[in-house]
Amino acid sequence: MDIRYTPEEIAFRDEVRAFFKENLPEEIKRNQMKGHRVSKEDIVTWQRILNAKGWAAPLWPREYGGPGWDAVQYYIFKEESYRAWAPDALSFNIGSVGPVLIAFGTDEQKKYFLPRLLNLDFWFCQGFSEPGAGSDLAGLRTHAVRDGDHYVINGQKMWTSGAHWADWMFCLVRTDNTARKQKGISYLLIDMKTPGITVRPIITLDGNHHTNETFFDNVRVPVANRIGEENRGWEYAKFLLGNERVGHARPGVSKALIAQAKALAAQVMVGDEPLSENRRFREKLALIEVETKALEMTNMMVVAQIKKGGNRPDPRTSVLKMKGSELQQSIHEVLLEVAGLQALPRLSKAQIMELATAGMVGPDWAAPLAPNYFIGRAKSIVAGSNEIQHNVVAKAVLGL
Ligand SMILES: Cc1cc2nc3c(=O)[nH]c(=O)nc-3n(C[C@H](O)[C@H](O)[C@H](O)COP(=O)(O)OP(=O)(O)OC[C@H]3O[C@@H](n4cnc5c(N)ncnc54)[C@H](O)[C@@H]3O)c2cc1C
Repeated sequence: MDIRYTPEEIAFRDEVRAFFKENLPEEIKRNQMKGHRVSKEDIVTWQRILNAKGWAAPLWPREYGGPGWDAVQYYIFKEESYRAWAPDALSFNIGSVGPVLIAFGTDEQKKYFLPRLLNLDFWFCQGFSEPGAGSDLAGLRTHAVRDGDHYVINGQKMWTSGAHWADWMFCLVRTDNTARKQKGISYLLIDMKTPGITVRPIITLDGNHHTNETFFDNVRVPVANRIGEENRGWEYAKFLLGNERVGHARPGVSKALIAQAKALAAQVMVGDEPLSENRRFREKLALIEVETKALEMTNMMVVAQIKKGGNRPDPRTSVLKMKGSELQQSIHEVLLEVAGLQALPRLSKAQIMELATAGMVGPDWAAPLAPNYFIGRAKSIVAGSNEIQHNVVAKAVLGL
């Protein structure tokens, strides 16, 4: 299998690189490079720039606003995006609910939602997990009872990231208690302004508000907001979860973080030499770099296979997700080592930034490293924990 880029692909890469250079707002790039949290406004601004170019949803079919790229072009686009320190378009819109609507939505639903997803006029969050239903998602209990042309929903969702920013939620609810648990689930789109919805913040270890608990108390949702058939939501969710794992390897993110670790280590003196010259440090970083290269090659092989028409999602995406998340976590650890004592203060990110800006706790660059390390622990949990991915690989790849 030839995994080198063709001359056309190299020309495409140059075009994408030039676009990022000319169009990514400097302020957004700087925040990303410094490891600061990107604001909602910045994500909206950037996604609208991408959408104006027709690049907000690289994998969507052309008829729904995608650019008509193949898998290799998509891969190049993502790599260039990380290289340029651009934020991702909102994955809940583009990678999750969008493809489900395209595959299973009515024409009316597609016409209404898809352009708004692309332009981030609607910010979606994901209401799947519940207390007691994470890895065992099919055990979810939030239920919806038919009342005329509405469902009435009661229950609780857990870890609804971005629900405090969201206009809409795509949500799994139980519509049949008597069937096998996978058979009694439906997939609804819920307007977050509907009376009876309460969003309660969860503050994660990094001191930030990323995620929430969401409660439903007699929430009325039009039946017209159901995607596909009643009680077949599990099939649509499985389709979505497969999509979600594709692209989780993100060797581009690891490469950008490695470059950052090298540049910062050159500024930190250990005795009379920069940390970047320290043999033990160099060996550690070299090992991560080699593994990142191996991840990148494997990723390219999977992408090349997809381009040739292989089944999507490929179970090897589970391997990519595991390795990619572990490598990013390893680099966050290395970055902590670079910051040393400067990474110690256990304050919220906002407090650290304030103190750092006032010159009170070491250099500006050290401030976000510990919070990013802490939130980075979630990478091996989200989109199906790595233990669950091991089970997928054991069954689907190794046939155990
Ligand atoms: C920061 C963050 C953001 C999130 N955002 C969202 C969101 O926006 N929307 C949403 O719906 N969900 C979200 N999640 C939920 C996430 O998908 C779940 O946390 C994840 O699926 C694990 O479920 P759980 O937390 O219930 O853990 P559990 O399923 O209770 O698992 C606990 C531990 O047991 C292990 N385990 C469980 N079953 C098995 C098994 N069969 N074999 C081996 N090990 C097993 C797991 O790997 C884990 O280590 C988010 C989670 C986090 C941490």
